[in-house]
Amino acid sequence: MELYDTHAHFGTKEDVTAGVLARAQQAGVTRLMAVGGNTELNAAAVLAQAMRPDAVRLALGADRDQAELPHDEILADIRRQHACLSCAAVGEIGLDYHYTPETSAAQCALFAAQLALADELHLPVVIHTREADDATCGVLDEVPWHGPSLRGVIHCYTGAPAFARKLLDRGFMVSFSGIVTFRSAEEVRASAKYVPADRLLIETDSPYLAPVPLRGQTNEPAFVAHTAIFLADLRHIPLERLAEITFANAISLFG
Ligand SMILES: [Zn+2]
Repeated sequence: MELYDTHAHFGTKEDVTAGVLARAQQAGVTRLMAVGGNTELNAAAVLAQAMRPDAVRLALGADRDQAELPHDEILADIRRQHACLSCAAVGEIGLDYHYTPETSAAQCALFAAQLALADELHLPVVIHTREADDATCGVLDEVPWHGPSLRGVIHCYTGAPAFARKLLDRGFMVSFSGIVTFRSAEEVRASAKYVPADRLLIETDSPYLAPVPLRGQTNEPAFVAHTAIFLADLRHIPLERLAEITFANAISLFG
């Protein structure tokens, strides 16, 4: 059985990353996406990918917390990195109105600019959205699309099935993290049952959000197995099938 953790962040300590990657392999997590989002996270993701190019895919981008920095400089930097590195996606990008609603306009502008960049590079996108359902759909619908199609994932999905429907209608995959295992996450579980098998992905969003029964520990890609076990049970399918479906979906999106 092989698992694909479609969203993991890394630090810049090489020995720590080596340990995380080795434990992932031992746990059957044979592929994972190292995700950036700012200068430091992008550098750490590049390092992880360089250490295990067979198993690690790379997503580089600027997240909502970079919204108030000069966009032309951020975009030039990301463009430069995408030109010289083998990237599988642009990310993570998107909106968060929970923590920083006051920067909403700048967040939307940076998000839109990176959707256009992904279009130009013919790459899928890794999207974060929190308490910004309408704004996320608004930006997705406003950006003119020139390439084959807009592809990507809404990562660490925490919304209701109705919002998932809107994202599925726009062609996206939906990824679930350890949050789905949390006791209070009834709405997330409803969404995790609702998303069709051919659009379902799993992730850790490590080092945060370790799944039950490891909640509170520093999360890492090896722990995605617990989310897989939980989702298989929730959807009444064998674990092997859940692993097979989510692995194939991730390969089709990111390689
Ligand atoms: Zn993330």
